[in-house]
Amino acid sequence: MTISSFLKRASGYLHGHPAGFKALVLVTLSSGSLIAYSDSQSETDRVGLGPNQKEQKKKKVVVLGTGWAGTSFLKDIDISSYEVQVVSPRNYFAFTPLLPSVTCGTVEARSIVEPVRNIIKKRNGEIQFFEAECLKIDATNNQVLCCSNLDQNLGGNREFSLEYDYLVIAVGARVNTFNTPGVRENCYFLKEVEDAQKIRASVIDSFERAVLPGLSEEERKTHLHFVIVGGGPTGVEFAAELHDFVQEDLVTIYPMVKDLVRITLIQSGDHILNTYDERISSFAEQKFRRDGIDVRTGCRVLGVSEKSLSVKVKSHGEVYSIPHGLVVWSTGVGTRPVVSDFMEQVGQGDRRALATNEWLRVKGTENVYALGDCATIDQRKIMEDILSIFKAADQDNSGTLTVSEFQDVVDDILIRYPQVEVYLKSKHLKDVTDLLRDPEGNERESVDIEEFKSALCHVDSQAKSLPATAQVAAQQGAYLSRCFNRRQQCHELPEGPRRFTGVGQHRFRPFRYKHFGSFAPLGGEQAAAELPGDWVSMGHSTQWLWYSVYASKQVSWRTRVLVVFDWTRRFVFGRDSSRI
Ligand code: FAD
Ligand code: MG
Repeated sequence: MTISSFLKRASGYLHGHPAGFKALVLVTLSSGSLIAYSDSQSETDRVGLGPNQKEQKKKKVVVLGTGWAGTSFLKDIDISSYEVQVVSPRNYFAFTPLLPSVTCGTVEARSIVEPVRNIIKKRNGEIQFFEAECLKIDATNNQVLCCSNLDQNLGGNREFSLEYDYLVIAVGARVNTFNTPGVRENCYFLKEVEDAQKIRASVIDSFERAVLPGLSEEERKTHLHFVIVGGGPTGVEFAAELHDFVQEDLVTIYPMVKDLVRITLIQSGDHILNTYDERISSFAEQKFRRDGIDVRTGCRVLGVSEKSLSVKVKSHGEVYSIPHGLVVWSTGVGTRPVVSDFMEQVGQGDRRALATNEWLRVKGTENVYALGDCATIDQRKIMEDILSIFKAADQDNSGTLTVSEFQDVVDDILIRYPQVEVYLKSKHLKDVTDLLRDPEGNERESVDIEEFKSALCHVDSQAKSLPATAQVAAQQGAYLSRCFNRRQQCHELPEGPRRFTGVGQHRFRPFRYKHFGSFAPLGGEQAAAELPGDWVSMGHSTQWLWYSVYASKQVSWRTRVLVVFDWTRRFVFGRDSSRI
């Protein structure tokens, strides 16, 4: 597929999904927050409150984190209704999809970060930011205990607490080592900007070390053996970046060791990029094989020492050791301690992520919300409510449900239980009422409760949890601020689906994720993309699409210009190999 036909297709898609596009634009363009700001001003003016009354009515919102979810919430929140305080140990937002490019100097670290104060200054300083880490959430007393990561203040105290009416937890996740011995001590991670900078320096160090006099060839080879653990998008992208860096830049400046460099990618599953379409993962595997990247699938790392890692082949249990010069560990995400502690408090100690309902409110709390990588939505199962749905739909209390009775509640069902739509697609059913057909596929005029149950009993298997991605986090932030901004309005005029297990309607529509597609850059100016509608694109044209999408998604014009400048610089002069 050519770029022009893709762009036509993409533009058609976006026109067909104006709301989704607006959400994307609001997330990506800093001017979006200006629009939100002017809207919020006029809303308060309409209500006609004086400045003091406005202050009195303001509820306190504390936001933890300045990543994708937190900043997307902050951009749109209406500060005329809320007093907002932000706590994060990082006073900047980082555009994580370009972190792998920072590891090899394809783009500079400063080009992908935006100071938080730039993002919130549009509010005339009314959003307060504190550079600190939240140590503990005290849900009983509605407060958070924080610790500044700067020096002690004059009173010798670095800790402070903040009270809240609403708490928004957006602290992201930490690297998951699966308790593998030696990983924290001997591996590099690729999660934060500092990690990428450390990897960059360390790759150069490995080359400088390998050319020192007096080493045997075996020792030089070990220094130049780069191992990546984890064949997900981050591991694959880093392997590709590193391969390009070595082949395009380093072999010409270190010609004496150019034949000794090896890159190994270890993946525990049977394929790399196994969350992507099969065509993409086999394209990636073939490309890596051609490039000489050693892909070892079906292998588990048992431990990592300073000089080697021990690997077990899952199929036949053989354990062997690989000497390494540098290991990058990239195998998924785990829970941060502050979140695990909070989960214990709210009775979620046995879960793996902080569970929220479909409106992003933490289960077991009234005023705490969680979004992004630290949370997971616990989708309500339709079978839990099946009796109530039947009762609500059976308007004439006949004990049977006719097609037209069912049709009356279909819209509410589709909004409340999105798994129904996925199930219909998977079974190639055109209409929801096709669910009421008998097992042979014949139409039925009505169904009783048992028939209704068996018609819907497989639907819940299609409820999938959302991936830990920037797209999900950003959409959740924008969704939650929209709900906050319309709290009063929707209290009076609810916009959500009917409550099957209660009376009336839900105040808001539940959060619904819109997938805009995902990319996997594979090096050598080639990339793969998975786009909505089972559409897959691979090769050089997809790489150009990647450049344009990632340039347009930058959070500010400043970072957009810097990133495009870095790419151009790399095309003209190559990457910089100085170790600074
Ligand atoms: P984060 O963005 O991680 O932000 C968490 C914030 O919380 C940070 O500001 C952090 O400093 C702060 N924080 C941490 N602890 C505390 C605390 N105790 N108190 C207060 N604040 C705290 N996703 C995609 O969709 N596409 C991609 O191409 C893509 N590429 C990626 C590449 C890499 C290398 C990585 C690491 C991730 C990538 N992701 C990508 C995933 C994406 O970055 C995450 O899903 C996203 O960052 C999640 O957003 P978040 O706001 O939940 O967390
Ligand atoms: Mg009836």
